[in-house]
Amino acid sequence: MSSEKVYYNPIQLLEENWPTPLLKLSIGQDVWAKLEFFNPFSRSIKDRTALFLFREALKADATQITEATSGNVGVALSSLSAIYGKKFVAFIPTQAPRAFKIAMKVLGTEVIEAGKSTNDLIPLVKSFAKTSGSYHLNQFNNPLNIKAHMETTAKELDEQLKSVNKFPERIIATMGTGGHIAGISKYFKEKYGDEVEIIGVQPAENDRIPGIKRQNGDTLVSSAKVDRVIDVTSKEAIEGVIKVARSSGILIGLSSGATVAAYNRFNDEKTTILIFPDDGFKYLDELERFLQS
Ligand code: PMP
Repeated sequence: MSSEKVYYNPIQLLEENWPTPLLKLSIGQDVWAKLEFFNPFSRSIKDRTALFLFREALKADATQITEATSGNVGVALSSLSAIYGKKFVAFIPTQAPRAFKIAMKVLGTEVIEAGKSTNDLIPLVKSFAKTSGSYHLNQFNNPLNIKAHMETTAKELDEQLKSVNKFPERIIATMGTGGHIAGISKYFKEKYGDEVEIIGVQPAENDRIPGIKRQNGDTLVSSAKVDRVIDVTSKEAIEGVIKVARSSGILIGLSSGATVAAYNRFNDEKTTILIFPDDGFKYLDELERFLQS
């Protein structure tokens, strides 16, 4: 690796920029955020999942791949498809933020908009994969999605905290496929047991936060221990975005804001880590609507 950050190809750019930064926040006594928008493709945590899943498709010599996405994994897979010359057909909910759909199209992906949430899309993708002969990556039910985060996200976090003599008493993460919380939980619980408390965050009932969903037992979350689940409204998530923006000057995404909202429910000095999956530039419409309300 070049210490001057010179790269010969985009995969090297991805992997050699790990670990993503860990930033101490000023919103509490001892709270740190892992900034996953430093990943280069989707500018989100989903670059990690996408890389692990895509490698399987390469091994299988797939020419066309397909996946249901709330946005970020779709963008990351679009990048990888462009790099490796594969055709990618993405299914995305109609209400997903525009930024994802535009980004995927620019990267050369065929984008199919349907349904309210990824739950509606999974059966569509499955039948499309069958009729078209496409390789379905199946992030919601693929153990590689957990492995990606055990081997990269969680391991990085462990090493970063050790380097500053900190122990993660509590880790707060949002849940979509459950890949990153399951990977983090498995890694830390296997190594340190219940000394590390894992808090999962989901949208409140009848509310919507892009990228995450209420858990109903059919995601990867069910394969790992989550000590407590906290419901957060979209309003609380955006207030969390604003709190970090106006204290640290960093524009985080809505699901990141949801981890801040969950953190606000605790009033103690435990060393707490928030996983910030992406940044706020994808959600300008949502943020504008909030500012105008
Ligand atoms: N936040 C955002 C912005 C996301 O795109 C995702 C992935 N859909 C998540 C959180 C949840 O991540 P995971 O799929 O690993 O549960």
